[in-house]
Amino acid sequence: MALMKSKIVVVPLGEVDFMMVNRLATNVGPIFGRSVDILKGMKLPDEGLNVIRNQYYASNLLAKLERVKANHKEIVLGVCEEDLYLPDEPYIIGHSDTVCATAVVSLFRIRQEFYGLPEDESKVYTRLFKQAVHQLAHLFDLTSCRNPRCVNYFSQNMIDIDNKGERFCDICKRGLAEKR
Ligand SMILES: [Zn+2]
Repeated sequence: MALMKSKIVVVPLGEVDFMMVNRLATNVGPIFGRSVDILKGMKLPDEGLNVIRNQYYASNLLAKLERVKANHKEIVLGVCEEDLYLPDEPYIIGHSDTVCATAVVSLFRIRQEFYGLPEDESKVYTRLFKQAVHQLAHLFDLTSCRNPRCVNYFSQNMIDIDNKGERFCDICKRGLAEKR
């Protein structure tokens, strides 16, 4: 059954490298067969910040992102530089909510700087792209893949992210074709 999703809306949350967001928006559209809009940006909600952890609560951001939707068919992807968490996780790189069709990806831990390494924009972009595709895949009803080479493989550390490919495996590709 086809999901009646219209377009993907990319939202920079707070101060984000706009070139990177722009490149991401250009590249995710064709993968999911949807047009992509980029919004000017949204302030990170103060109430989403946990001052003790110095991280933003991912579920709060997803709820805020839902408000930018022009209609219920839109899918919203937020990108931020801040570190994210869930109550049961020390940190997360990305998160999505299939009910409100929103997803968020953080650049905080995928930047080389976080590991004390010189910044490498192409490496960081590739990681952002893979994690964004993985989160968006959930919103197209795909569950995480068990194939470590597939872009839809669940990966929370840089080794797994760097080792996986930028494409869907055949099983995910088939699943996505059915959902489109
Ligand atoms: Zn797969």
